[in-house]
Amino acid sequence: MKFSLTILGSSAAVPTASRNTTAHVLNAHERFYLIDCGEGTQLQIRRNRIPLGNIQQVFISHLHSDHLLGIYGYLSTLSLLGRKAALNLYGPADLENIISGHFSRVPDTLLFPLNFTALTETGLKLIHEDKAVEVWSFPVRHRTPTWGFFFREKTRTPEGYSAYGRSYAYCSDTLFDPGLSRFFMGCDLLYHEATYSEAHRKRAFSTTHSTAAQAGEMARLCKAGQFDHWPLFSPVQGCFGSPGGSQNGFS
Ligand SMILES: [Zn+2]
Repeated sequence: MKFSLTILGSSAAVPTASRNTTAHVLNAHERFYLIDCGEGTQLQIRRNRIPLGNIQQVFISHLHSDHLLGIYGYLSTLSLLGRKAALNLYGPADLENIISGHFSRVPDTLLFPLNFTALTETGLKLIHEDKAVEVWSFPVRHRTPTWGFFFREKTRTPEGYSAYGRSYAYCSDTLFDPGLSRFFMGCDLLYHEATYSEAHRKRAFSTTHSTAAQAGEMARLCKAGQFDHWPLFSPVQGCFGSPGGSQNGFS
């Protein structure tokens, strides 16, 4: 059974010629989950041959543009392609106003329903469950309300009992906070955004972001099986067991 993550964008704040802003797709048992939706995400989905219409759940960590701007084009395209099935979106409370506001003012009409779930919890919260995964949200520390997501694969033992399989934790823009590790302790893969190198640690603090070294420290604290990060202002790449990580299209 497949459980794989494709990095559609890993650049912080601004896209570059080779790296889009944040978006990931998790494939769990051929169910597809979109996590954040930076500018150009729909093109990245196509380039990576991910079935555009098969995504049923979209998780938005926070409302900064580099994590959100791609949603308008993505939704518009789905409608033009004839989607009728509802799409479920999870994100900060204002996500619904922002997206609904956009489509109420442009002459495009979405021909399928959007179901919004507002993230408000201050602790770990189960926000979605299906046959393949459980998805838990947890708050992180950014200058706007922001959540991370913890995906746990659901499997069955040979005796037929339900069990947890592989796991993936996504830690969006956040101040380094060792306490966050309790939300995804022992995850198999941690993706922790890091915007600065260690030389810019003060700036990372003042702008509520993390450095690459801090992201690595979080991977150590939570005992992650694999770790992936790539800061904007330093081409430092640190991955456990996946030396090609974080570039567009990496799975
Ligand atoms: Zn942000």
